[in-house]
Amino acid sequence: MSVVDLVIHSARLRWGGEWVESGVAVDDGRIVRIAKEPQLPPADESVDAGGLLLLPGAVDTHTHFSYGRPDRTDLGTGSGACASGGVTFFVEQAASTPEHCRPTLDASALQEKVALGERSSLVDFGVHGGGCAENLSRIPDLLAGGVAGIKVYLGWNPVGEYRASEDATVLAIARRLSGTGAPLEVHAENPSLVADATETLRKAGRTTPEVYTDSRPTLAEQEAVARVARWGEAAGTAIHIVHLSSGWTLPVVREARARGADLSVETCPHYLYFDTGTYRDRGAYAKVNPPLRSRAEVEALWAGLLDGTVDFLASDHAAPSSEKAPGEKDIFSIPPGFPGSETMYPILMQEAFRGRLSWERLLWLLAEGPARRFGYHPRKGSLLPGADADLVLVDPRATAVIRNEDLHHHSEFTLFEGWSLKGVPVRTFSRGETVSDGVFPGTLRGRPGRGRYQRAREFTGPASPAGPGGGAGTPRSPHR
Ligand SMILES: [Zn+2]
Repeated sequence: MSVVDLVIHSARLRWGGEWVESGVAVDDGRIVRIAKEPQLPPADESVDAGGLLLLPGAVDTHTHFSYGRPDRTDLGTGSGACASGGVTFFVEQAASTPEHCRPTLDASALQEKVALGERSSLVDFGVHGGGCAENLSRIPDLLAGGVAGIKVYLGWNPVGEYRASEDATVLAIARRLSGTGAPLEVHAENPSLVADATETLRKAGRTTPEVYTDSRPTLAEQEAVARVARWGEAAGTAIHIVHLSSGWTLPVVREARARGADLSVETCPHYLYFDTGTYRDRGAYAKVNPPLRSRAEVEALWAGLLDGTVDFLASDHAAPSSEKAPGEKDIFSIPPGFPGSETMYPILMQEAFRGRLSWERLLWLLAEGPARRFGYHPRKGSLLPGADADLVLVDPRATAVIRNEDLHHHSEFTLFEGWSLKGVPVRTFSRGETVSDGVFPGTLRGRPGRGRYQRAREFTGPASPAGPGGGAGTPRSPHR
């Protein structure tokens, strides 16, 4: 047997619905073999996992690392947060502030963002394209450049020339994406309903954080999802709803799918763990769009997460850097969003340890599901021979308390402050190289700028389903 770069042995891998003692051999950044120790090849570096769990790295397809003040967040610090939290691949959103790089509306702006990532990122990454009336003709160039999908905003201008789209523009973009495999990504809130509800509250002098949910009613989300699903059907294009906030929108999703719509939805940890009461407890820090919802809607969202209606999770990590204080008097005056990439995998892992989520469902929601939807699977989001060796070692006995000051995300706060975790990442590998080491939040290792841009829908190499049992078949994860 020839000598490979790395062997991780004596780990426990999830296979066929159970934990199997096994190991992986890694060469040239790829998994080349999954087997018990005697069958693993000799290696330059050998890691004894001592019975720890070996999981695929998470895939976070919704990050805003290049949006906000560069001294607070950037692709480098964001990627460090990813490495610490077991996220080995992220997909950066199109909106970015020009202090970082231009929003991703054409091929040269894409190149700029890719170059910035390849100078500063610790882990591999992809990029989303943006769509609006101004760049309709440049969308084919973005797709040729390997963007994950094209994101549109219905009622809010994200930045500069990246504008909100009228209905006819969204439909035109959907038609351009037809047959390409790239989903049209939609921030689904009916802008007119949001504007009206906001204005009504303002006029009544009700502007404190507790009213924020009322300013963006669930009806606005339900209505927008129903409408864009129809446009996707008319165009023959896959639609992806980013950051779905309410479980009460899921019946709309199911109806559209029953008609045949190719409609996927992501939700975010904050919609699963926080509700309208959080505006009382955390005030302006809890501002996010769409807003946090009622307890009943959170419960319905959990049900959809468990039954497969929700396709996967993403963080919608953002680090708006303006002062939060003015938001306590006028919640409408400050920008929305908060960080989430670093804490997402460790927190959701708790649900698998507790048995609320199966491990198969967890790994689908955080790795395979998003990687498949945006065309990065099986190179990313899987633990299979042929895949990139993006791996996380998890110690079921290791404990951590989330403290913002310990995190790498360079944000002023986390909504998960003080949360106690048992069973957390203790080492993260990106293409076989250690990028974080030690109990979460780990110590970052590796050279910033080692991360590579990954084009979507380009994977050609074989990712064999042969596993520890030898050809047991790809473990099928519960989907819809
Ligand atoms: Zn977002």
